Amino acid sequence: MPKPRILVLGAGPAGAAVALGLRRLGYEVCVVSEWRRFAALEGVSQRVLDGLRHAGLTRALASAAAPSPRRVDWNGASQVLNQEFLLDRPRFDAALRDDLRAAGVELIEARVRQIDSGADGHRVALESGATLTADFLVEARGRQAPLAGGRRRGPETLSLLNRWQQAPGPAASAVESLVDGWAWMARLADGRCYWQLTLDAANAELPGKEQLAAYCAQRRSQSALVQELFGAAALQASELHARSSTAILFHEASGTNWLRVGDAAMAVDPLSGNGIFQSLSSALQAPAVINTLLRHPERGELARHFHQQRVEQLFLRFARTGRDFYALEQRWNEQPFWRERRHWPDSAPMHAAADFSQVHVVRAPVICGDAIDEAEVVVTADQPLGIWHVQGVAVAPLVRALQGGAGLDRALRDLPPAQQAMLRAWLVSQGYR
Ligand code: FAD
Repeated sequence: MPKPRILVLGAGPAGAAVALGLRRLGYEVCVVSEWRRFAALEGVSQRVLDGLRHAGLTRALASAAAPSPRRVDWNGASQVLNQEFLLDRPRFDAALRDDLRAAGVELIEARVRQIDSGADGHRVALESGATLTADFLVEARGRQAPLAGGRRRGPETLSLLNRWQQAPGPAASAVESLVDGWAWMARLADGRCYWQLTLDAANAELPGKEQLAAYCAQRRSQSALVQELFGAAALQASELHARSSTAILFHEASGTNWLRVGDAAMAVDPLSGNGIFQSLSSALQAPAVINTLLRHPERGELARHFHQQRVEQLFLRFARTGRDFYALEQRWNEQPFWRERRHWPDSAPMHAAADFSQVHVVRAPVICGDAIDEAEVVVTADQPLGIWHVQGVAVAPLVRALQGGAGLDRALRDLPPAQQAMLRAWLVSQGYR
């Protein structure tokens, strides 16, 4: 059987993680990407670094700055919450490409102009005039991926990224709420500084393009936090890049010969600080999904269902995280920016209370080795997609035994003592009494 040709469009964290995962499964992969057209700085948590390590993106991991303190001024209170790792995106994106090359992934630096897709494959036209063909396509062009098809969107949101250079100083970042939005700001140790203002795209009263940089400088001059973090150097008009930061869920995350990952499948509100985390999450599961579609087409629907469910669940989780953080700011509840965001996407709680009477066993798709298969999982109010294993132990047989009338001691008796203790604790956390 000839090897399928897989094209990954986009060399951001999602595209790079999928390409490396597919390479590890023995596929020949080609990544096509242009460079981002602006220099950004982004803040990530330790779990993003863990995700990069897990994906084998070691050069990208090494490009993260040492952790720096993160100050949060929200609802009139100020606190230094946790530490943040700053990612200089041009450096991070270059390191992702180094990781791809080191793994033997073919990388074409080019802009994709048009794609023609059919049941027998894809033709990808590049701006250079060249055409590439593929049996399977991974769409990982982030927010630039085409938007055709139904979508779920959060309130329309706009971010204005400003950057300038000043004298070196300690790296730090901060976020503050404002009457019409919020601002994130950071300085790298070499003196590169960033200030990003996020506003409601429909209600923001902004001047024309020519005056935007001066407008942003004037907004900075009103912030005590800006003065404290950057001093007077922040008050000059600086280089500016405007981009949409609306939360978007693309309804179809896959077809029989294509898959969307990262921001191309769903992009979250930057307030959640989870963009790169969600990109890696959807990308890390993708190689098993693609492998199933290519090698076990009889389980193709199951694999697509698996990918779709997880993309949607992740989207809702981060949308609700953002909602709850917006709701903590209560000084401007009636301002358009805050009014909408404190209620979107719904009123469901982030976590459902444990209730063992609701726990049940169903058959559902799971990642089994390098492919998607079906297994019995335990569904709880808080884990609607089901739990297959807890620390390597399948939990459906245990729940079945308990629901069939076996006492706890009998249901656990064949397991080693350490696993018994772990499962007892897990059952209690699920509301078992
Ligand atoms: P991307 O990283 O966007 O990669 C897509 C790649 O595809 C790029 O290399 C691009 O050049 C390439 N490409 C696009 N179009 C084409 C084309 N036609 N042809 C060829 N190549 C193409 N996340 C965080 O974790 N922390 C933050 O602090 C943070 N701040 C953010 C602030 C704002 C204002 C926004 C909008 C997002 C922020 N994010 C943040 C989100 C984060 O940037 C994304 O979630 C993440 O980069 C998505 O990864 P990706 O691989 O899906 O796409």
